[in-house]
Amino acid sequence: MKAEIIAVGSELLLGQISNTNARYISSQLAELGIDVYYHTVVGDNPARLVESIQIAENRADLIIFTGGLGPTKDDLTKEAISSHLGKRLVMDDHALFYIEDFFKRMNRVMTENNKKQALVLEGCTVLENKHGMAPGMLLSTDKHAYILLPGPPKEMEPMFQFEAKPLLQKLLHKETIIMSQVIRFYGIGEAELETKVQDLLEKQTNPTLAPLASDGEVTLRLTAKSATEDDAWQKIEELQAEILDRVGKYVYGYNNDSLASKLREILIDHSLTISAAESMTAGLFQSELAAVPGMGEALVGGMITYTEQIKVEQLGVDKQMIASKGVVSSECAEEMATRIKEKFGTHIGIGITGAAGPDGHGGQPPGTVWIGIALDHMAPVSYKLSLSGMRNTNRLRAVKFTIHYLIRLLREQKELKI
Ligand code: ATP
Ligand code: MG
Repeated sequence: MKAEIIAVGSELLLGQISNTNARYISSQLAELGIDVYYHTVVGDNPARLVESIQIAENRADLIIFTGGLGPTKDDLTKEAISSHLGKRLVMDDHALFYIEDFFKRMNRVMTENNKKQALVLEGCTVLENKHGMAPGMLLSTDKHAYILLPGPPKEMEPMFQFEAKPLLQKLLHKETIIMSQVIRFYGIGEAELETKVQDLLEKQTNPTLAPLASDGEVTLRLTAKSATEDDAWQKIEELQAEILDRVGKYVYGYNNDSLASKLREILIDHSLTISAAESMTAGLFQSELAAVPGMGEALVGGMITYTEQIKVEQLGVDKQMIASKGVVSSECAEEMATRIKEKFGTHIGIGITGAAGPDGHGGQPPGTVWIGIALDHMAPVSYKLSLSGMRNTNRLRAVKFTIHYLIRLLREQKELKI
């Protein structure tokens, strides 16, 4: 089965929003083994929308639309499909009841144009919208299947996942179970990872193996198909064991884990507290940690020590050491980590200092970063990064590498038994 995704909305063409819906749907279809050959974006214009549908019908079996199912005049996806296919729009009582009830519950007056949202294509299967008002639709003709989904991702994603996907599986006559697992890596580049698992990538069939890189992070998605859940899972586990054997030391988590959520888990499990003295990242490390719920039990606080003077006067870093080693140095990072740990009385102290770019700093080229980590019962350690990104990419990378090195260091501590 070949698919095309048509995203409808002038705001996409004007560059006001990105077409994240197509990305989401494509990744979902890949799991079902459906090939997506084209992504189309078209404005809120009926003639051009119909033109796009005609083009898609010549090159795809399944056409998925997102956007334009709402109550306003510029929402015209189903109207255009209705006139193109010669299918009437009929009122869906269940959807209408849901919309009226929604307005009652919100204590708001329902305007007439809202009823339009309950109109569906004659003969379609209605896809319930549990997070909004406009229902989705699946319509099959002799030659094609059409799926209409709302624009807002928070409505579209669950509708696809729980309503459309099971129907597509049926349509494909597949009683097969599809399971997937994402392995998350940090500290290894995409090219290096691919080289290490090249033979597995080449011979992949079931499970399939798909690498993906973003934000300095690399993931591998393993997807297995089988008649039973147990067998699919066993296939995934076998391949995963082989991967872990080769590149396991770069793995920090699975599926929805993030570096920060993984760190939180380790800190909480071992009742560890943490503080940070940040120079080039100016609070970004703490902000990244604080984005994870429940971090309050571990993150005590920290200091932004941006200038040399503040590092010396407020944090207590040795002026002589800075004069001889420089502010971007392993010595400075380690001392920042040690001082903040003492000052805040935590188990772990972090020091981050560097030259974010575009200019050098402290006698070091742009992109040079030193990360210091101080733990109980051991001398502080430091790690050097030589980054090549833009200023804010470098700042974020410095934060992510800090979390990565800390996770690795904590796992190595035997007494922690992690
Ligand atoms: P509504 O009932 O909210 O009007 P709708 O189905 O009519 O929903 P649109 O009006 O086309 O959808 O888009 C509503 C909002 O959904 C957009 O402002 C945008 O925030 C989001 N959206 C629409 N299309 C996409 C897309 N392709 N990718 C990501 N977000 C989208
Ligand atoms: Mg709309």
